[in-house]
Amino acid sequence: MTPCFVRVALDHPLPVLYDYRYPPDAPQPQPGMLVRVPFGRREAVGLICEVSAHSDVPANKLRDVSAVCAECPPLSAQWLALAGFAADYYQRGLGEVALPALPQALRDPARWPRLMAPEERYRLLPAGREALPEALPARAQALRRLAQALVDAGELDLADARALHPKAAATLESWREAGWVEYECVAFGAAGHSSAGNGGENENPADGARNPGSATEGAVAAAALHQLSAEQAVAVEAILEARGFAPFLLHGVTGSGKTEVYLRALSGLLEREPDAQALVLVPEINLTPQFEAAFRTRFAGVLPDDAIVTLHSGLAEGERAHHWLAAHTGRARIVLGTRLAVLASLPRLAMLVVDEEHDPAYKQQEGLRYSARDLAIWRAKQLGVPVVLGSATPSLESWWQAEQGRYTRLTLSRRAIAEAVLPSVKLIDLEEERRRGRASFEGLSGPLVAAMKARLERGEQSLVFLNRRGYAPVLSCDACGWVAGCPRCSAYVVLHKPERALRCHHCGWESRIPHSCPDCGNVDIAPMGRGTQRIEEALASAVPGARVLRIDADSTRRKGSAQALFSDVHAGDVDILVGTQMIAKGHDFQRVSLVGVLNADNALFSHDFRASERLFAQLMQVSGRAGRAGLPGEVIVQTRYPRHAIYHALARHDYVGFANSQIVERRDAHLPPFVYQALLRAEGRTLEAALAFLAEAAQALTAIPAAERVTAYDAVPLTIVKVMNVHRAQLLVESQSRAALQATLRAWQPALRALRGVLRWNLEVDPLDI
Ligand code: ADP
Ligand code: ZN
Ligand code: ZN
Repeated sequence: MTPCFVRVALDHPLPVLYDYRYPPDAPQPQPGMLVRVPFGRREAVGLICEVSAHSDVPANKLRDVSAVCAECPPLSAQWLALAGFAADYYQRGLGEVALPALPQALRDPARWPRLMAPEERYRLLPAGREALPEALPARAQALRRLAQALVDAGELDLADARALHPKAAATLESWREAGWVEYECVAFGAAGHSSAGNGGENENPADGARNPGSATEGAVAAAALHQLSAEQAVAVEAILEARGFAPFLLHGVTGSGKTEVYLRALSGLLEREPDAQALVLVPEINLTPQFEAAFRTRFAGVLPDDAIVTLHSGLAEGERAHHWLAAHTGRARIVLGTRLAVLASLPRLAMLVVDEEHDPAYKQQEGLRYSARDLAIWRAKQLGVPVVLGSATPSLESWWQAEQGRYTRLTLSRRAIAEAVLPSVKLIDLEEERRRGRASFEGLSGPLVAAMKARLERGEQSLVFLNRRGYAPVLSCDACGWVAGCPRCSAYVVLHKPERALRCHHCGWESRIPHSCPDCGNVDIAPMGRGTQRIEEALASAVPGARVLRIDADSTRRKGSAQALFSDVHAGDVDILVGTQMIAKGHDFQRVSLVGVLNADNALFSHDFRASERLFAQLMQVSGRAGRAGLPGEVIVQTRYPRHAIYHALARHDYVGFANSQIVERRDAHLPPFVYQALLRAEGRTLEAALAFLAEAAQALTAIPAAERVTAYDAVPLTIVKVMNVHRAQLLVESQSRAALQATLRAWQPALRALRGVLRWNLEVDPLDI
């Protein structure tokens, strides 16, 4: 028997593979298999990348693979190539990319034997919601934790429950007998192991949907569908006619029916290739229920229920593993997810959709700092399939690609519903209001209040948008100038009135609201500025009788609560919705006819060159919530700068004019998309330490030949320089050549790893916030 060795990627910062002996009695080794191996003094889970008959590691240093995951079909070569590309491009180790991309169950050898076992779930019943956790003895803390998890999520996967409590199975059974929960078992067919290359029989329940009958059913469903607008029809046809790698930029104004284009393109694809898989990305978890419902309705009778799955961080671990495996085994045809879903294993992926492609949420801000949109494009290219990027306000990067003809532009220039027109935009000059001594209510101008009252009388809804949560961003003392700051960060703390707390939005530090100034004893300390909580309060008195609902990160902290709040809006139980960007995106509110924008001016004078692009996109998005279903829509923007170009472009709904002027500015100023950038960030105990590290790092660049084509700027402190007592600074490098920048970063890493003196550092490629 010839000895056999495997080279394994581990979740470890060094970009190397580790050699192990492979046990002769284990299943045939293949790249893409998961294994458990000894690493240092512990055991780790790794991914086989290569199989070989030789190893250069001396025999006495080689160790054995200790377990092999035979339950999960190996990850495909294509998936490994994706992980490899992401690792390379974002300057990480392969294992650092590949392993965190897998659901927890795959990284936990204890759960391997049951990976493909049926999913067993307990769902909370109303009687249980009444009883738990109060019915449990106060001392039974582990049990109470189990109950709390069940109450919070409404349901619990048995595997997750076991992780919380060793006797979870027996306990949940007794709760079932008490009528508190119900039990559900979803068989997980291990069918369609296409990635294992065995082409095994398909016992998949999806088969029913693959017979020719499904086309007829689909046709019946289609009869009840909207008649596509001419522009929608052109877009769908172009996507379906594409062969090979075909990037599309679907530029459609808000409410133009981009979703309908995705749905038609996907159903066309599934009609043509019944086994195909598609990936649909949305920027925010809160948008998945709306999309999921639309997809389930459309594909009812065409695809079995379990062929549509979601993937996002809000899923319970067990559920996430099942959905991931459904994608990996080919059983799931449509995977709907947030940015992390771009790294899902999809062996028959044939189309990708990135909705709201401009959204900064597609950029992961920690760990592997990837752009899900960019990786989606890479996957489409790798597989030679279409990718549709949809937006009312495309990113300038994508817009520029389309301008150069690299992406095919598809335009939806008007709203899909015939009576629905884009809202009229009115600018309220706050300076003038003040000069003329006109009444205002706590930051709400007279005209905005009057417009909201009119909506209330007509039974229509209003939406008030301001991008600042909490009650007031600053609490200060008039007498001595004291301002409440965070003891750990160089930032003010935000006043949260319902929670009666001062809270740091950077590190989470909290304290009670002081009764008097800690410096001078003055009792007249006052909140300055306004957040969503304060506007919520003001609305109650400014528009008497209105039912006001606030949606922001604070009001939706509990799992599932955002969903419930949005349902209230859709059900018409709300007259005025106030919130942050959470309410601005994607939602198809039928009865909103007025949108008020407060405090947008803050973003006009940012030092970040992307601030105006972001602001414009946000304003277009939030304005797009008005008048979607035929009610005439109105947008009222309160501003001190009514003559600013951004507001003028907004009033004309003129994305194209705005984008083209920005493109000229960016070109003149040598900014992206005309240069490629990377940021080196350092965190030190002092600012000096962080800056010194970056200075040495810059020095190290001089020894790198490729860096001749790279410009390094001076290291600077971050705007919020101190967070959690850690001081932060950054160094920007850029080049007109992506290749030169990539080569430089690669050569730079070993030098950076050799430097000392800081707590942490990281490299971010294509940063969005500078
Ligand atoms: P977008 O994503 O472009 O903002 P949506 O996809 O949410 O727009 O569509 C807006 C509304 O128009 C939805 O209520 C949708 O059902 C409706 N709609 C889409 N296409 C058509 C069509 N061809 N005819 C009539 N209504 C349509
Ligand atoms: Zn803080
Ligand atoms: Zn004071």
